[in-house]
Amino acid sequence: MQLVRQKEETRRKSRRQVRMVLAVLLASAVGSGCAGGPADTPEQGRQPAPAAGQQQEYRPGADQDLAGYAERLRRAQALRAAAAKKWGLARPPLAAPPPPAVKPKITTRKGFSAGPGLPPVFTTVPVKERVVFLTMDDGAEKDPELLRMMTELGIPYSAFLSDYLVRENYGYFERMQGRGVALHNHTLNHRYMPGLSYKQQRREICGMQDVIEQRYGKRPRLFRPPYGNYNADTLRAARSCGIEAVPLWAAEAFPDRMEWREWDRDLHPGDIILTHFRGKEDWKGTMPDMIRRVMKTVTAKGYAVARLEDYL
Ligand SMILES: [Zn+2]
Repeated sequence: MQLVRQKEETRRKSRRQVRMVLAVLLASAVGSGCAGGPADTPEQGRQPAPAAGQQQEYRPGADQDLAGYAERLRRAQALRAAAAKKWGLARPPLAAPPPPAVKPKITTRKGFSAGPGLPPVFTTVPVKERVVFLTMDDGAEKDPELLRMMTELGIPYSAFLSDYLVRENYGYFERMQGRGVALHNHTLNHRYMPGLSYKQQRREICGMQDVIEQRYGKRPRLFRPPYGNYNADTLRAARSCGIEAVPLWAAEAFPDRMEWREWDRDLHPGDIILTHFRGKEDWKGTMPDMIRRVMKTVTAKGYAVARLEDYL
């Protein structure tokens, strides 16, 4: 009798512990500023969270599943916290919600010139969730630390490449692509596009499409003109090269500061952040310094970095 009571007591204790762990994890997930909802858990390839109400009552034998789930959540949080510590981030990056089932319809930003049938030009993706997008341009700096850092922290980003810099080391960007980063078009030679004829612009854009397709096996759908400067010929040329969208940016990240396009000098849901593959020769810091700076801002403002290609 004594033994049975002890066993029952132990079982109750372990259920209580699981409940406590779950409560803490759920509270921290909700309080972390990532968009709510039952499917919102911090892990990619995740299991859905138990529905409300299921957290109170337990089916016989359910302890095992629940304990396993709590353990996976706990481990994911612990991994993220450890990676953040290793890379010098004060707070772990917030987890992005699952990709949207339907991609939002993109239109050209008000005041930006485009035309019917031309790829839209925009600085923000129309979303409601607190997500932003990180994009890196050119390709001058090829820092292996960046690849490791982004993988370990689980931060998605997109690369807009210019061949005159990338050709020094195609392999670096192949490794990047192997880690799940999409490679997009930023022209062959990074020229000021409005200063070129239609034919010259087309060569700059289609030429880079060919390079990326030949080197990396995939023809880009996204194009960003150097300096963000373009004219009607740029968009016509881009379209003829197979480009579907022209994402510009709402904010720019440096190792020591953020620069803002909007008057409120703030982030907004869906904002595209620009930064560059640069090193100490070009700016006051390394690529990891720059990532620390931008993530400090993004996380403090309650945003998660999501994958641009999931939305475009
Ligand atoms: Zn550029």
